[in-house]
Amino acid sequence: MANVHNWQLGREMSYRHEGGVYDKQFAAVFNINRCIACQTCTMACKSTWTHSPGQELMWWNNVETKPFGGYPSHWDSRILSMLENANPGGQSWEAHAGDEAAPYGQFEGKTVFEAADAGQRALGYLPREADWKSPNRYEDHATGFSKNGATLPEHEGWFFYLARICNHCSYPACLAGCPRNAIYKRPEDGIVLVDQERCRGYQKCVEACPYKKAMYRPTTRTTEKCIACYPRVEGSDPLTDGQPMETRCMAACVGKIRLQGLVDVQDDGVWASDPSHPIYYLVHEERVALPLYPQFGTQPNVYYIPPRWVPRQYLHQMFGPGVDHAIEAYTRPSRRLLAVLQLFRATQKMVFSFDVREGPKLSEIMVGGEPLELFDDTVVGFDRDGREIVRVRVEDPLIERPGRINSI
Ligand code: SF4
Ligand code: SF4
Repeated sequence: MANVHNWQLGREMSYRHEGGVYDKQFAAVFNINRCIACQTCTMACKSTWTHSPGQELMWWNNVETKPFGGYPSHWDSRILSMLENANPGGQSWEAHAGDEAAPYGQFEGKTVFEAADAGQRALGYLPREADWKSPNRYEDHATGFSKNGATLPEHEGWFFYLARICNHCSYPACLAGCPRNAIYKRPEDGIVLVDQERCRGYQKCVEACPYKKAMYRPTTRTTEKCIACYPRVEGSDPLTDGQPMETRCMAACVGKIRLQGLVDVQDDGVWASDPSHPIYYLVHEERVALPLYPQFGTQPNVYYIPPRWVPRQYLHQMFGPGVDHAIEAYTRPSRRLLAVLQLFRATQKMVFSFDVREGPKLSEIMVGGEPLELFDDTVVGFDRDGREIVRVRVEDPLIERPGRINSI
């Protein structure tokens, strides 16, 4: 066991290996407020990677309706209960607005690594086969009906859609759990892969991953998982002429909830400061996007803008103590944040930096009893080599077609 720094927990923690040195880390932001559960992302992934015999129950990308849905069934409530049993009453945060090394404060409970039983590398369980069979059970099921209509900040009856892929964690539990060292994290982009030659199908990774994103394939007797569409990330897709491209699930997203990128990582595992990178900006500057169940301890790299209408207690458990700030920042966005939010799904190429060009004032609206000024700014995105690849205005331009344009 080694001591590594987990910035999401604001402290050191024990992990099987020293933290690796990564040039870049695959990361993404999902805006839950926008997801419509169309499952286009799910089918884009399935039709690309998991349509062969033995992969029938394998959904690397899934979208589940919270609080009841889950794939596999009840994956999160189950591991949360196991952690609570291992550390009764102790799974809490010392929340405070901290610095870059501890932005949410400090987690005082036990991670899946620290709560593991003797001889186990991470606390976990193996789902039953039946748990993998109904990926979309409880779709659109709300907690109840409201007789009073729905108003913010919390709806009486509520649900939301949680889109999930492998988090390509900085401290992957799947990797820690594998007795064959068949799982590795690529130094060039932090993508977590399974070496199919080394894997013997012991399913220790399936047991260890708290997000249940490592999946067993009975026909090959090996584990498979999301590969982050690495040929696209490497820029080997002919469409982008050598430039890194976003994954299939990101590029296909109809609700425009997803933005993906590669961020620079320091030797201590903390992201190198880069406020002009859209993912860094959303996670570290605005702190509007938060990790999913950071208390598990794997330092996941998919971040979520939490849904505004859901009871805070539920969101605190799911995204940690940064929730109140994130919702406030999203509800009353700064001029710069509103511009950056326009970058979501504006291009398939990966955006490495952005710039905001100021435009005229559009209007003033009231948000939470306070005025909020809106401006028609333009956000410009640049690729890895600093070339402009996208330009979007905050206000959707109204385009009037000239008469007689239709020749049919
Ligand atoms: S989400 Fe699970 S499968 Fe993916 S890297 Fe993290 S621990 Fe491994
Ligand atoms: S494609 Fe986008 S909007 Fe549709 S379900 Fe997936 S994440 Fe949600």
